[in-house]
Amino acid sequence: MAQCEGKTKKGDRCRRDTQTESSYCSIHVDQERRSRTLRTEEWDREAIMKAAVGFALVGAIFLFRFRR
Ligand SMILES: [Zn+2]
Repeated sequence: MAQCEGKTKKGDRCRRDTQTESSYCSIHVDQERRSRTLRTEEWDREAIMKAAVGFALVGAIFLFRFRR
């Protein structure tokens, strides 16, 4: 059992013990879920940006070839 990684309403670190297989106590389990969702969204945004840059690059190459 470790210390909960959740934050209280005051912004302090929670002093409760964690639940098994979780980094948060029973009160802050929803904070864990939220942080996971946030991380997924960040990864998705990064993947979309990389895809957009890739498509832009391919588009630029096609545009360059058609103009010649
Ligand atoms: Zn907690």
